[in-house]
Amino acid sequence: MGDNMYADILVEINSLEKTFTYKIPSGINALAGERALVPFGSRKLEGFIMKTYKEGNFDYEVKDIISLIDDHPVINKEMMELGKYISNKNLSSLISAYQTMLPRALKAKIKSNINKKYLIFLKCVSSNNIKTEKQKEIYNYILDKGEVLKSEISSKAIVKTLISNGNIKEYKKEIYRLDDKIKKIKKNYVLTKEQKDVLTKIEFGKFKPYLLHGVTGSGKTLVYIKLIEKVLESGKEAILLVPEISLTPQVVDIFKSHFGEVVAILHSGLSDGEKFDEWRKIERGEVSIAIGARSAIFAPFTKLGIIIIDEEHSTSYKQDNIPRYSALDIALKRGMTYFIPVVLGSATPSVESYTRAKIGVYELLEMKERVNKNLPKVELIDMKDEFKKGNRIFSSLVVSKINERLDNNEQVIILLNRRGFSTVVSCHDCGFTHKCPNCDIPLTYHKKGNIMKCHYCDYSSPKYLECPECRSRNINSFGMGTEKLEEIINSTFDKAKTIRMDVDTTRKKNAHKRIIDDFGSGKYNILVGTQMIAKGLDFPLVTLVVVVSGDASLNIPDFRSAERTYQLLSQVAGRAGRASLPGEVIIQGFNMNHYSIISAKDNNYELFYKEEMKIRKTLKYPPYYNLCLIKVSGKNSDKVFDEASKISVYLKSHIKDIILGPSFSSMPKVNNVYYVQIIIKFKNTKDIINELLFIRDRYKKGTIFVDIDLNPIKI
Ligand SMILES: [Zn+2]
Ligand SMILES: [Zn+2]
Repeated sequence: MGDNMYADILVEINSLEKTFTYKIPSGINALAGERALVPFGSRKLEGFIMKTYKEGNFDYEVKDIISLIDDHPVINKEMMELGKYISNKNLSSLISAYQTMLPRALKAKIKSNINKKYLIFLKCVSSNNIKTEKQKEIYNYILDKGEVLKSEISSKAIVKTLISNGNIKEYKKEIYRLDDKIKKIKKNYVLTKEQKDVLTKIEFGKFKPYLLHGVTGSGKTLVYIKLIEKVLESGKEAILLVPEISLTPQVVDIFKSHFGEVVAILHSGLSDGEKFDEWRKIERGEVSIAIGARSAIFAPFTKLGIIIIDEEHSTSYKQDNIPRYSALDIALKRGMTYFIPVVLGSATPSVESYTRAKIGVYELLEMKERVNKNLPKVELIDMKDEFKKGNRIFSSLVVSKINERLDNNEQVIILLNRRGFSTVVSCHDCGFTHKCPNCDIPLTYHKKGNIMKCHYCDYSSPKYLECPECRSRNINSFGMGTEKLEEIINSTFDKAKTIRMDVDTTRKKNAHKRIIDDFGSGKYNILVGTQMIAKGLDFPLVTLVVVVSGDASLNIPDFRSAERTYQLLSQVAGRAGRASLPGEVIIQGFNMNHYSIISAKDNNYELFYKEEMKIRKTLKYPPYYNLCLIKVSGKNSDKVFDEASKISVYLKSHIKDIILGPSFSSMPKVNNVYYVQIIIKFKNTKDIINELLFIRDRYKKGTIFVDIDLNPIKI
């Protein structure tokens, strides 16, 4: 008695928000933060050791841990606390928080075979009793080199003999999967006055959030490089978040070539094994910079000196499934833990962040000029007038400008934020529309493969040649996506060499990078694509950017649609004229008087912000009110609506805030699941949290699912 050790373990069942006690068998050195395999009922489950302790008085039989999964804690003390923070803030289970923080390869339940990757090496032990010349020759070769890859030596038999005679020994050495092919070239950058000013304002050694509002091309990247240099000099570490890293390989290249091997890259384009390797480089302190998308905020550094979030307005920083954490919140939380600056950068800050900067929660830093002093000239074209002239896709101005660029061997970017060929196929005689049977929304025609596709559930079906309702052959496609636009460009412009970038052309690994490299090398002169092409790209020969349907995103039923429109147009406009050649931008559309379009044209964020805030105030949207989106879903439409109504009644009788709904979601049916939503507009989380927790727990089991999203990015 007395010497038994116990561990409280959080097992991998999402609905059980509690730990269970197990005995640690003698001889096993279990530590908090390690994962263990434990018996649970008749099953074996994996779990996280939350704490270990000596005494214990149990009036029931305490089972033994079966085995440890890790040889050291994979969740350190800071991460333990961070997990609790995530679970509280986002109403998610603690286990899902820990799972999210770790690379997939380490996640329990996922029976992946991601192991460390090893190579086998040979080295010399003793030259006693070496018999033949051949043996001696190989022995000396290894001796000479110190260590040699086993696969390098072709005479396997001799190696075997040398090993069994104790002359040499073989051993495994771990290698990493991602190879650094980029050479380190440290450029001597010259800073502009604005860049210098910003750098002197950022203080180290205390927690402080900054909003760096810099126009496109103002050189935010160089500011980040300088900040990270400073941090590294003081022996500390840095995290840089970029949205969807696979879309911005150019940014990664800049950092890799500047800092060399001390950079780890974390993003969704990597295989599980590659991610695992990069994660361990950080954990072991072999690198001091982590660059990555959202999840890189969990880089397990222990000497953090700065966190930088580029394009802070990007929706990709909020996770779209459970736990619905925001990387910005995590950055601020970690910033407080380490007493470090957190720098949020953007040319088009989110309305919420800009408000925080205005009221002094963040310090506002501004860079208003481009490094090359050339902001592109932006023109708006009203397509209502062009339609009268018979121009349906491109205005006459756009046609002449594109031809001019192609004649001068310059490049053009054309944005249309809709993929596929045509958007709707419907019958002229009876009005039948070809819809997805799972989602009840119109299918999109894709010429490649000659099929109709659902962009929500991936359902596909052949294109109808005659109407299934009235047998009319007058069934046609309307609207246009990038696939069709590419075809139109090629038939309109003789000199066009077009490459397209959208979800359909970038499914394969590294496809983004190949398209970007090919366009950058001049193999193509027109890049056409969806919003994917709006971000972070930097091509010196691009002197014209054309936006087709620049007002299309205004029609999306979401309170952030104007903000998204402003951001998209500003970002894509920023792709033009980034080097010495001046840039021009032409935006076409039907609703060109909207303030989001006018302010993007004039590069006037203040104007946009002022107009947008009026509307947010009137309609009680963030930042004036907080939002909570409750999504109720299930396979039976009536039952889903019934339960949602009950929830709404419960909320209305228990909380004083504004409750809207239930109503069907903007996508009421996806993949045969029905969605009904309730929206709460509230001031303080503490006023509603208990009711939300009650609802969450009430629907943990059963056929109706309730998903609660505090501060949703879209509704
Ligand atoms: Zn018909
Ligand atoms: Zn569908």
